[in-house]
Amino acid sequence: MSQKFIKRNESFVCQNCGFFNTEDKNGSCRNHCAECLYSMHLDIYPGDRKSYCKSLMKPMYMEMKGDNIVIYHKCISCKILKKNKASREDNLSILYEEKK
Ligand SMILES: [Zn+2]
Ligand SMILES: [Zn+2]
Repeated sequence: MSQKFIKRNESFVCQNCGFFNTEDKNGSCRNHCAECLYSMHLDIYPGDRKSYCKSLMKPMYMEMKGDNIVIYHKCISCKILKKNKASREDNLSILYEEKK
């Protein structure tokens, strides 16, 4: 049933801040920048890279889900909202500060 989920864990240069992201050391999907938390709208289903949008996705807010932190990203172009699991390396203070 979850065949559509393709795991991607690749290094990339952030299109927003230019930070070089190495692959996630904990083995989860590195799909957003650890420094500014921006993501890219590349996928229709996680990892498929089939979206034609390819715009930046802005981190909006985060939520605790059990032991995990989920970051909600909104595409600056098509406004779609997606959630992504945060990595331990992520600079989550950006979202903490916005909540003040
Ligand atoms: Zn960045
Ligand atoms: Zn989009």
